[in-house]
Amino acid sequence: MTLTIPFDNSYARLPPGFYSRQAPSPVAAPRLVAFNDDLARLLNITPGDADEMAHVFAGNTVPDGAAPLAQLYAGHQFGQYNPQLGDGRAVLLGETVGTDGVRRDIQLKGSGRTPYSRGGDGRAWLGPVLREYVVSEAMHALGIPTTRALAAVETGEQVWRETPLPGAVLTRVASSHLRVGTFQVFAARGDKRALKQLTDYAIQRHYPEADGPMGLLAAVRDAQARLIAQWMGVGFIHGVMNTDNMAISGETIDYGPCAFVDTYHPDTVFSSIDRMGRYAYANQPDIAVWNLAQLATALLRQLDDPESGVEEATEIVHAMPQLLRDHWLQVFAAKIGLTNPRPEDGALIGDLLGIMTGNQADFTNTFRALGTDTARDQFTDPAAYDAWAETWRARLTNEPDPRAIMRAANPAFIPRNHRMEQMIAAAVEGDYAPFHRLGTVLARPFVDQPENADLMRPPTADEVVPATFCGT
Ligand code: AMP
Ligand code: MG
Repeated sequence: MTLTIPFDNSYARLPPGFYSRQAPSPVAAPRLVAFNDDLARLLNITPGDADEMAHVFAGNTVPDGAAPLAQLYAGHQFGQYNPQLGDGRAVLLGETVGTDGVRRDIQLKGSGRTPYSRGGDGRAWLGPVLREYVVSEAMHALGIPTTRALAAVETGEQVWRETPLPGAVLTRVASSHLRVGTFQVFAARGDKRALKQLTDYAIQRHYPEADGPMGLLAAVRDAQARLIAQWMGVGFIHGVMNTDNMAISGETIDYGPCAFVDTYHPDTVFSSIDRMGRYAYANQPDIAVWNLAQLATALLRQLDDPESGVEEATEIVHAMPQLLRDHWLQVFAAKIGLTNPRPEDGALIGDLLGIMTGNQADFTNTFRALGTDTARDQFTDPAAYDAWAETWRARLTNEPDPRAIMRAANPAFIPRNHRMEQMIAAAVEGDYAPFHRLGTVLARPFVDQPENADLMRPPTADEVVPATFCGT
């Protein structure tokens, strides 16, 4: 069988100013280490043999129909505007339309230098590639919009970070790679024509019902508000919510120093470079609003008189905090077994999170245990939980089946950070068993899997990963 990818490349049909044509740079000895058969089927891809796929997904062979390019974008990084970022270590091979009718990008990440590489080597090492593979697929299984992972290849070359590390390439699939920063780059240049083309393209591709730039803004706001609430609901901390890492589609994108919280605290930060805690767990909703304001500013620049749109744009952005609260309440209400939340339930949930914070409770295991005998064991002072649970039980009286609601809302399995680190350490030694095991278990996060209970366990003091690093 020969690998066949039915490409139809709409981005490559946009004017040349949107990207640079760029072939991936070949590597020494590609070896396929993971291939996502289910996703391939969805994308209408016919798999080939392992060697052929290794060559294609390493970038050594450009498959028929591909039109490889590096996309241009800019972005605010930790609040500072950087006028030119772009795909510095990735190329978009092209797009396919899936069996579900959805158009998706197929991108190689770690595939060599591009005109946007600045000082970087254009490469990725195995650790972040496997991390993104596992976490993005886990997010998908958790029902959270996300880019996905089609393949991972070892390059047979070393990548130098602080030490030599095995190089790798990830094949990433996204409903598009349009970012807030894609709009910002043209706005900053005052290129109205490009902004209009990009707005039309984004509307057609993601929100065909949206009316003009302000319609697009509102649609992105809605998608982002829902997404961030879902992140909060599983204790996910993205880590680098720069505007270049915010997808217009509302998918989670750019898994770098991301992590899931173990012991709950709202101020949790993992990223080693996030010294001010800008992207801490509980800051994520505020940051999403800030990022939307940047998108609004960029979109307005295409109007003949940008001032004339300010009022409407402001209204759209100002509605986001309430939307975030509504989605948050919906998500967390389900986590405590409620179908139709009332405004006052926010305080009940807030009280639980407060005693979790004060009692070093594990986020995932506490919610999964709610309503069972073991819930109180998650708290250093179990009596604090008992008191809360009494009020909670009273609130549950008319709920027909809270247990079922909670089981569908509270995963048993998340990609715990210490397990990611152990999985990467094993893979570097050539042992892919932990990688495959995590993939299998995390594909069914809401199902009890007693034989995999060790993957529910929070890290021991020795296993805690204090900081995570950007996926470079
Ligand atoms: P990130 O923080 O991973 O979202 O990346 C921010 C910017 O840095 C993007 O433009 C990336 O393409 C670029 N970048 C990250 N790592 C590398 C690398 N190893 N080589 C070249 N560019 C990179
Ligand atoms: Mg990025």
